[in-house]
Amino acid sequence: MHLRKRKAAATAAATVAATVSRTGKRAKVDVKNEVEVSSALTSSRAQKLTQDVSYAQVMEAIKPQVKLEPEPEANLDSPRVKVEAEVEGEEEEQDLPPNIFSKVDPADAATGPSNWSTIYNEVVEMRSKFMAPVDHQGCESMPNTITPNLQKTNPQKYRFQLLISLMLSSQTKDEVNYDAMSKLNTALSQLYPEFGFSLQSVSKLTPGEIDSYISKVGFHNRKSNYIHQACQILIQEHKGDIPRTIEEIVKLPGVGPKMGYLLLQCGWGINSGIGVDVHLHRLASMWGWISRKANTPEKCRAELESWLPSRYWTDINPLVVGFGQVVCVPRAPNCDICSLGRTGVCKSANKKLVNSTISDERRAKLMKQRADLTNLINEL
Ligand code: SF4
Repeated sequence: MHLRKRKAAATAAATVAATVSRTGKRAKVDVKNEVEVSSALTSSRAQKLTQDVSYAQVMEAIKPQVKLEPEPEANLDSPRVKVEAEVEGEEEEQDLPPNIFSKVDPADAATGPSNWSTIYNEVVEMRSKFMAPVDHQGCESMPNTITPNLQKTNPQKYRFQLLISLMLSSQTKDEVNYDAMSKLNTALSQLYPEFGFSLQSVSKLTPGEIDSYISKVGFHNRKSNYIHQACQILIQEHKGDIPRTIEEIVKLPGVGPKMGYLLLQCGWGINSGIGVDVHLHRLASMWGWISRKANTPEKCRAELESWLPSRYWTDINPLVVGFGQVVCVPRAPNCDICSLGRTGVCKSANKKLVNSTISDERRAKLMKQRADLTNLINEL
């Protein structure tokens, strides 16, 4: 940690409402109505002050973060006062991971299994300390990793690439899927520079050509055919875009409900169901969030949706998937660095591992996981 100072010009008025909010590691002073701040102020200390207050109260309230000084010629009785703002606060030296998930609202803790909110909150804590493959190479984030900001600049192209990455994802690691998507992007940008990686360009490829770019992906032959067919259906029946209902999406060849719900959430902002993959199914079952009868992803989804408030339906997939990729990995979970094991919350913890100290050899092994676990290990 270290202290940093930034300067920004601000214009203040006699009576204002001011908000200091946190977005990632940036805190910005977003002042309503009479006060404008001309540049974002940087500080990791978040503070929310939304209230009608006097000019003097604003100065007092944000003083711990921002030192506001009127210009020498400023007239404090004037409705508008030009000030210089100087931010002083603590800022983490390293970038925060993008996976800052919200914890459970205490009002929701009483729903569902008795331990769910404790486990969920612990996983949120642990996930804030590392970036898992799903965070940058998962289906949802991959189009934006390949083309920064694609989701905002070209939502339709983002939705299409999201569909393709989801279709490639079954039985395939995120890293392999990412390589295939990058190959497609590079090739299509050269073959069809006017379209890039889009429905227009992929629909021109034969299944064999698609296969040549995705040959490392599991079941690539079958997936090439599905992608080819899905492109024709999107053009002929959906005006070149992704359908907006789960019923229509799962009619596309090779697209199941898990992909469909994620596509709706991330592509259209429609939260109509939970995307359940193998990690979420495995961990929900292990933690007792679902019954033994829920032995398929679809049954798991139905049981989770029966008690989990819908506000968590979007987060739960990347939250738990990233945890399952790196900490609670199948077959050899890393219970020694898992707070659920150390606190005795997880009944499936490997007690021997939990009670052992981390040797240099073990540390070296942990550092070979699919994410940098330094922050998690250093906490022990
Ligand atoms: S099995 Fe181990 S790693 Fe997995 S949640 Fe339980 S304590 Fe954590």
